[in-house]
Amino acid sequence: QAKSKGKSAYERFSPEMKEVSHERLQLESRMRRALELNEFELYFQPIIQTATGTLTGAEALLRWNNPSMGMVMPDKFIPLAEETGLIIPIGEWVLEQACAAAVRWQQATGLALGISVNVSPRQFRDPGFVDAVLRALRNTGLDPRRLELEITERLILDNTIETSDILSRLDEEGVRLSVDDFGTGYSALSYLKSYPFDTLKIDKSFVRDVMREQEDASLVKAIINMAHSLGLKVIAEGVEEEDQTHFLKAHGCDYSQGYFYSRPAPEEEFAVWLKTNRRAQM
Ligand code: C2E
Ligand code: MG
Ligand code: MG
Ligand code: MG
Repeated sequence: QAKSKGKSAYERFSPEMKEVSHERLQLESRMRRALELNEFELYFQPIIQTATGTLTGAEALLRWNNPSMGMVMPDKFIPLAEETGLIIPIGEWVLEQACAAAVRWQQATGLALGISVNVSPRQFRDPGFVDAVLRALRNTGLDPRRLELEITERLILDNTIETSDILSRLDEEGVRLSVDDFGTGYSALSYLKSYPFDTLKIDKSFVRDVMREQEDASLVKAIINMAHSLGLKVIAEGVEEEDQTHFLKAHGCDYSQGYFYSRPAPEEEFAVWLKTNRRAQM
């Protein structure tokens, strides 16, 4: 009987579902080998002080170069990396590489730039997470105050005691903490007063139409004002047009990031950008 039950369960999978799970398995087995085959690469996108146009740091964005799939974007593989736990070794690699890059830039240019690293929920809740952060800092010699960890609103709202404990430990070490994609979670704003965040990153969905939609303009202004009255800095994500930079400047948005300044780029390209933009900005 158990056998026939098993069979009918199997038959409930449509051909499409079988295809999807085959694709997932293939993606997963390729991802398992990707670290040792050195297929991951960090891209860097400048973070600009809005008022002056000065470069203050960069966000590290993960790319996966696979021989048979080409360049795979994070939205395509991070969710599966989360589910399988592979995000933990991958995340440690990202932390270490990102910190090392910031140290290299300082050696090359003298600029003490900040480096922002995305952290996903599974990684954040792993018992070894804080140690992995401290290890990356120690191994590379980066000043903790130059590392900013980006955490999404969704993660913060999920569980409280643990989250609060981890955030406090990182804060005590001097690491900066930011809320990524701000405004897209369930926005129980009370967490902002109890957790040691330094920065809010306004989600690009609000920034995109800020010059066309009155509601988006109002929301962006309100977020900037709220953040400042709580003692937080604000970064606008997804800045693509010059008009947006004027708007953000006029309303006191501290930092900006987006294609208008630069697309995320491989380190060699970012280093060139750094050299050529440096003189004008200092
Ligand atoms: P995010 O942290 O919110 O990163 C910003 C995303 O917006 C990036 O997409 C970036 O390329 C894109 N972007 C930047 N400027 C513009 C712009 O002007 N216009 C538009 N339309 N988009 C812009 P990307 O690189 O595909 O990354 C997507 C998401 O994947 C990230 O969102 C982040 O949540 C996640 N991610 C990326 N790297 C890592 C990583 O190392 N670890 C983890 N856990 N997640 C990562
Ligand atoms: Mg981010
Ligand atoms: Mg702090
Ligand atoms: Mg974001």
